[in-house]
Amino acid sequence: MPIQAHTPVYAVIGDPVAHSLSPIMHNRALAACALPGVYVGFRVTDLPAAIAGIRALGIRGVSVTLPHKVAVMALLDDIGDTARAIGAVNTIVNDAGQLKGINTDGIGALKALETATHVTGRRVAILGAGGAARAVAWALSRAGAKVALFNRTADKAETLAWQLNLQWGRMKDLSAWRAEILVNTTPVGMAPGIGALPVPEAVLDPAMVVMDIVYNPMETALLAAARRRGCTTVDGVQMLVFQGAAQFERWTGVAAPVTAMRLAVIEALSPQF
Ligand code: NAP
Repeated sequence: MPIQAHTPVYAVIGDPVAHSLSPIMHNRALAACALPGVYVGFRVTDLPAAIAGIRALGIRGVSVTLPHKVAVMALLDDIGDTARAIGAVNTIVNDAGQLKGINTDGIGALKALETATHVTGRRVAILGAGGAARAVAWALSRAGAKVALFNRTADKAETLAWQLNLQWGRMKDLSAWRAEILVNTTPVGMAPGIGALPVPEAVLDPAMVVMDIVYNPMETALLAAARRRGCTTVDGVQMLVFQGAAQFERWTGVAAPVTAMRLAVIEALSPQF
């Protein structure tokens, strides 16, 4: 599609943003659907000015990444119920000048897990108690999973569990909780810290489904260990793609080409592909 004066513009805002795979993923999605549009990245340090710019320039849709996911909420016209429950916005939808904040991280995680297993009634251990843990825990719990939080700083797991009405435990008690699904939401294992494990390998039971939301590298040390032990694994690219797919569908009204989006991300992560 040629870029013309009326071509819709989409963007990701964050700081840093240069490493973001969202432009590659969303531009591939627009092309695969033969939709006009261009998706770019903006490093944003002055968030109110950036939101004013989105309004002034009529930017159609925006992904919001760290560190702006919470602060942006006060600057928008409307916040969706899910984003309000999670307490963070990862997507802005510009509906004729009205900026609405929504959150697709939770549904992205749920759909990623559902490629491998069902979650309703299953015992899920979530490692971490940060922003991603909050979105993932909320969505899985809402889908009927029995969720418990385990975090390096136990107090944070306890606080988040209390806020979301979930269980929590200390890392040393993880095995005793007998999780059927384990989700890593910590950055442990992320490049350049490749090789680090967020839990001892012995915690991984062959019957477990293990999902890592870290997507660089695509096969983290945790997923490699889980595969060796015979567990079913789900990589972080799945969540990245499904949260992006939900954004794309909200912005364009067109079914997201998830296979093309996944391929674009995999290619970007492995230049030799
Ligand atoms: P965050 O808010 O900073 O939370 C980080 C969490 O990880 C905290 O609970 C922290 O524990 C824990 N943690 C950090 N370093 C640790 C270490 N060395 N050992 C043990 N625990 C550690 O970060 P976030 O926004 O939740 O993001 C977490 C990860 O998810 C990042 O790698 C991000 O790239 C990834 N992510 C992926 C997707 C996707 O679509 N695949 C989406 C969102 C985020 P303490 O409380 O003890 O500090």
